[in-house]
Amino acid sequence: MPTLRLDRSAVAANISAVRAATASTIMAVVKADGYGHGAVAVAEAAVDAGAGWLGITDVADAVALRDAGLDAPILAWLNPVGADAALAAELRVDVAVGSVDELRQLIADADRPVRVHLQMDTGMARGGSPLAEWPELLRVAREGRGHIDVVGVMGHLPLADRADPAINAPAVLRMRHARDAVLRAGFGPLNVHLGATAGALTDPATNFDLVRIGAGLVGIDPSDTTQLTGAGTFTAPVVHSARVPAGTAVGYGHDMVMSVDTHLSVVGVGYADGIPRELASGACVAIGGERHPIVGRVSMDQIVVDTGRVPIERGATATVFGPAGTAAPTIQEWARWAGTIPHTIVTGIGPRVRRSIG
Ligand SMILES: *Cc1c(COP(=O)(O)O)cnc(C)c1O
Repeated sequence: MPTLRLDRSAVAANISAVRAATASTIMAVVKADGYGHGAVAVAEAAVDAGAGWLGITDVADAVALRDAGLDAPILAWLNPVGADAALAAELRVDVAVGSVDELRQLIADADRPVRVHLQMDTGMARGGSPLAEWPELLRVAREGRGHIDVVGVMGHLPLADRADPAINAPAVLRMRHARDAVLRAGFGPLNVHLGATAGALTDPATNFDLVRIGAGLVGIDPSDTTQLTGAGTFTAPVVHSARVPAGTAVGYGHDMVMSVDTHLSVVGVGYADGIPRELASGACVAIGGERHPIVGRVSMDQIVVDTGRVPIERGATATVFGPAGTAAPTIQEWARWAGTIPHTIVTGIGPRVRRSIG
């Protein structure tokens, strides 16, 4: 069965790398099922390694985390049709609120006080209130006391992957304005947070009380400035193996015709499992410590690998990706082959792929 194994020690190493770059408390962001690696497992590894907070998109994502016994503070920031106020209060989940409308709705829905982080649009036009709306936001927040308590201010950096403090500076300034306005309105103490992985690794000015680290936990540095450790190893079995003569056509469409006698291995993993269907040449997997190219089209649940002179036994294990320093390709290489970013490689891993912890 195809398996994605999470290496907890890699998550710990990545947390250490972030801690070396910033004194801020780490919020471990485990949205999209922990960037494909399993939200609970990644959250546990991160908290054990010193993360003080957890970040999710929907309040409901907190159920599994709390059920697993994780009791770190949690923030949820994508609540399109209104956060579940009762669940947020029950599970002690803070809710990010990015508009006056959303805040009014939460105040109306909350029987018990919900902890709120007001979200600033720091230049991304992807949620958050622009600074001009903050007087109204704070007026509504003050009126809503008893239903909500403002305990945080949040922004998000649109250009942190450029690793250029000058580019981040306007957002940092807006965050300071927002923080000061919230304090003047009588709320506090506050958890102020702006930076994610790239900001935490490259620009200390963006790091307020918390840094929200998602990609970095599993070994992705969007700024490409820090060598992090790939936390996942994705393996799949060789389900069929054969020696074929020159002239053999492989896969749908017969796009690939083998030019010499060779050995082909069929690996039981395909685009339904997250193998990108559009791949540049060079895409490969590792079998027995050697890289072998993928030939022909990627099918829904299988790929064909040309192992040349090397016969492979059915049942052998192919490694699709793993940490750098082994024969296995990295998620960064897969991203290049697919013309995308490593994030979509890991979040695209399908539900059939068993998640395990190593
Ligand atoms: C996804 C996300 C993060 C985590 O960003 P990474 O670059 O993956 O560390 C932080 N904050 C917000 C608002 C996000 O949506």
